[in-house]
Amino acid sequence: MTNRSTFDDVMVPNYSPLAMIPSHGKGSRLWDEDDNEYIDLAGGIAVSSLGHCHPKLVQTIQQQSEKLWHVSNVMTNQPALRLAKKLTELTFAEKVYFCNSGAEANEAALKLARKYASDKFSSEKTQIISFSESFHGRTLFTVSAGGQAKYSDGFGPLPGDILHATYNDLASVEAIISDKTCAVIIEPVQGEGGVTPASKDFLNGLRALCNQHNATLIFDEIQTGAGRTGELYAYQRYDVVPDILTTAKGIGGGFPIGAMLTTTDIAASLVVGTHGSTYGGNPLGCAVAEVVVDIISDRQLLDNVQAKHLKFIDGLDHINRRHKIFKDIRGMGLLIGCELKPEYHGKAKDLLTLALKHKLLVLVAGPNVMRLAPSLIIPDSDIEQGLMSLDKAIEQFVAEQAPAEQE
Ligand SMILES: *Cc1c(COP(=O)(O)O)cnc(C)c1O
Repeated sequence: MTNRSTFDDVMVPNYSPLAMIPSHGKGSRLWDEDDNEYIDLAGGIAVSSLGHCHPKLVQTIQQQSEKLWHVSNVMTNQPALRLAKKLTELTFAEKVYFCNSGAEANEAALKLARKYASDKFSSEKTQIISFSESFHGRTLFTVSAGGQAKYSDGFGPLPGDILHATYNDLASVEAIISDKTCAVIIEPVQGEGGVTPASKDFLNGLRALCNQHNATLIFDEIQTGAGRTGELYAYQRYDVVPDILTTAKGIGGGFPIGAMLTTTDIAASLVVGTHGSTYGGNPLGCAVAEVVVDIISDRQLLDNVQAKHLKFIDGLDHINRRHKIFKDIRGMGLLIGCELKPEYHGKAKDLLTLALKHKLLVLVAGPNVMRLAPSLIIPDSDIEQGLMSLDKAIEQFVAEQAPAEQE
């Protein structure tokens, strides 16, 4: 018999999973092994973009699994070709590189930015500018680009020549950018770092600075992409076009796939043999992602993401008027962050645990922010029921946090 305590016996202790073990899901509902039913506003951390077990994805994976799973990049395959074609038609990009995760997509982007600068300008043009509180993945290069020391501490020596500026503060970038800068990497909305949207002026300013210094502007859209903000990619909402864009999470709807998108000019630096991945572009993953992209690039679905955003904000404002728990409610589309008031700082995880008792799955983004990243097609009735459960969880949370003498 295996159960939650087996985890502590046989797994590397880098995670601390919840006590319950999910057994199956459907749409925005999840069931655990004791058949408790949960409303899922976590979406597998912004991954299950079409909920659990979407019939079209189930059908696709069944059909493709009977045809072809893997051939390696010694050969190409039709699902990969079709998916790449669609991504180039739907975005600024002219070329696509496939991999299996977000970190791998960013790893490819950062390597390409260095290689391109070295090919086209100078081997001295190696500096990468990133932002504090940013998150770009867990490989050594991507934790170094990331702006949270806790993810890179103890893993040194780290890749060099990476500087961190302050998010939404253009002057902090102006102060360090130079002709030695090869790339600026940024999340249009910081996800793990606390659900902080960039201002339009800031992204426009970065675009101009990158142009001025021949630096590549990389948008990490691993969390903001695949329809999450109400456009296929957040850059389309901001109307600021990057040179390289990375996508993963939601684009696979739960199947592991990542991609790096760029222009023909920049892509030209990744000549044969310079980079690769055994599973990258495998037919099974690409077949699933193709259907995800077909479904989420629909204008009506994207408009509905915005409508559901408003419904969430409305409900969250209402909850906040009752319990006065949040200092700020922010985000874009179905990536929503609720920052706790100072008196509740450090308690976001406690709220998550309490929500679970009320049969509701939410996320945190750091110690002070509750994050919601539900399915893009979550039914309105599940939003309503989820918010009712959240209201009850918060009621209990506030009561439990209140100092005893006030009672
Ligand atoms: C999740 C995430 C990553 C890392 O993706 P993995 O698939 O876990 O490697 C990178 N950047 C952002 C913005 C993310 O949200």
